[in-house]
Amino acid sequence: MTDKLLPCPFCGRQDTGTKAIDGPLYVAWCYSCGAEGSPRRTGGQAIDAWNKRAQPTVGKVVDAQWWLAEVDQYGTGRPVDGPHSERAGADKAMYLFNALGLAKGKRYAVARIELSEPKPSADGVNHEAIAECNKARAAMSAPEGGA
Ligand SMILES: [Zn+2]
Repeated sequence: MTDKLLPCPFCGRQDTGTKAIDGPLYVAWCYSCGAEGSPRRTGGQAIDAWNKRAQPTVGKVVDAQWWLAEVDQYGTGRPVDGPHSERAGADKAMYLFNALGLAKGKRYAVARIELSEPKPSADGVNHEAIAECNKARAAMSAPEGGA
């Protein structure tokens, strides 16, 4: 058991801690993005659970791309031009959007998107719901009148 929390697996920040929740149970959580670990009986167990999750989900970066992204009124970026292998490509796209009058009244940002290996995790998954869905799908795809 360790008392040191690893960085947040979702936002990568180190602003992590533990807190008591109903039960009483404890969770490790991220002050920055609000991500929570699995509830445990003690703060130490909550830290262990968080650290077990934090490590395997930090995927290896297989590629990084630069995109020109249109930013909506909420500050959410939506990639619209790319992928570019370097930032200069997205900056050139911004120049072209301006030169062609496509950027009028819109806001843009340059987004660097890291593509990493997905690490499928069953942590917190509702296995009964999956079984029900698979049963329903099997029933729909079964040939009529049997095989
Ligand atoms: Zn976070």
